[in-house]
Parts: sequence; structure tokens; C-alpha cells
Amino acid sequence: MPSRDDVLRELRLAPEWRLRRAAPAAPVDRTAESTGASPSSTASPPAQPAAAVAADSPSRLARIAALGWEDFAADVDACTACALCRTRNRSVPGVGDVRAQWLLIGEAPGAEEDARGEPFVGQAGKLLDNMLAALGMTRRENVYIANVLKCRPPGNRTPEPLEALACRPYIERQIALIRPGLILALGKSAASLLLGTDASIASLRGRVHRCQGVPLVVTYHPAYLLRSLQDKARAWEDLLLARRALGASLAEAELPADR
Ligand code: SF4
Repeated sequence: MPSRDDVLRELRLAPEWRLRRAAPAAPVDRTAESTGASPSSTASPPAQPAAAVAADSPSRLARIAALGWEDFAADVDACTACALCRTRNRSVPGVGDVRAQWLLIGEAPGAEEDARGEPFVGQAGKLLDNMLAALGMTRRENVYIANVLKCRPPGNRTPEPLEALACRPYIERQIALIRPGLILALGKSAASLLLGTDASIASLRGRVHRCQGVPLVVTYHPAYLLRSLQDKARAWEDLLLARRALGASLAEAELPADR
């Protein structure tokens, strides 16, 4: 996986711009959020600078890097490291088999995911389930599904660079905990965030990349496929490539296929 500096460079935030270490983020008034009341003006400093500082805190990064599954979801749920904590209804840590060989990663939760706390539900989720079924799999068996960002950007907007940086340690920890044989990046945005590139999805598809040492294949996001039926055949080619890459990865690691 690219370094933090690599990502900043790709996002054109370096070398001119750096996350600063300063005072910890101000606490979020969760009571006001839950009741729908407006937080008091004195309790709400500008969200972005406070989030940036908290996200880059060495103690936070060390804590996340040491998380086990027993604490992972609670840690995500308590996270206030970026401004998305103020607008989410539920955090969406991920779902599936924590010993899975397949790790599917999208960009960020949408409205239904935000409401249910589970990634890839609704029509896009059904299509994803159908794609998995075509390979003889289900989302709860030998598959883990997550997003790079664990909280929904309002209106499904593209995540801000600082939000992606703030959340990155969580997906890094999930990859380290699961140690999958294959990562399938769902959509250009997820691929860009994981690979630290702004290349087009057309140029990223059809070959095997590496992310934290794990083979990674890029395919279309299911929500895109719902609108672009002509690309479903290409998505199927991607799945077959992913299956071959997983087979090669397992052979390389000499892991049993039914781990
Ligand atoms: Fe924390 Fe990630 Fe949610 Fe931002 S998106 S509040 S970094 S869990």
C-alpha cells in the first residue's frame, strides 16, 4: 500500500501541504445530534482542521494498528477523526467472514448502508450478491465486504481527501487482520484510494495490482453496473481474473483452498 506521503502527492496536497499535529479535536456534541437540536455555536469549531489533527495523531494510528476484531467495530463507531462523524446515522465497519480469502472493498457507505450499518445493501448489494453467487459464493462465507470510508459522505458526495486519509488506517487494519488472498476493488474511487493513483478504471482493470502485498483486481462498482448493463460482461471478466489471481496467490502461499 502506498505511504501517506505517496497518497498526499497523488492528491496533490504534498509537498506544499502537510497534516499538522496540534491540539486534539474538540468533542462532538452527540446529544444535540441525536435529538436533532442544533449544537451550540461555541461547542462547534470548524470541523476540518480539528479532524485533520486527530486523524494524524500517533496515538490514534498506533491504537488502530493494534486493534483486534473484538474492538474494531466499537472503535469505528466511536471515531470522530473526520467531519463525517457529525452527519452519519451509523458507522459501517464491514461484514463477512474475518478469515475470508476474498476481500471486497468499495468507496463509502450510501444512504441505505448508513441506515442499516451494513455495506452494499439495496439494489447494488443485490447485484453484488448475484455476482458472488455466479462464482459459487455468498457474502458471509469466505468473503468480507468493507468500504475504505466507514461513514457516509452527505448526499453520497465524493469523500474529501482529508476524510479518506483519516479513515485509511481502518481499512489498512482490516487488510492486516483478514490477510485475504485477493482484494477486489469495487469502482474507480475505491481503487484510487487503495492504490494511490488517479488512473482511469479502464487502465486499472484487466491486471493484477498489489495492496499491502495482497493481489488486487479492479472492477466496476455494482451501482454503476445497474446503470450500465453493457459493462456487466466486463465485470464478469474481472471476477474471473480475480479468481485466477486468488488461485495463484494461494499457490504462492501454499495455503489450503478451504482455509
Ligand atoms: Fe472516523 Fe472514518 Fe467515520 Fe471519518 S469516516 S469519522 S475517520 S470512521
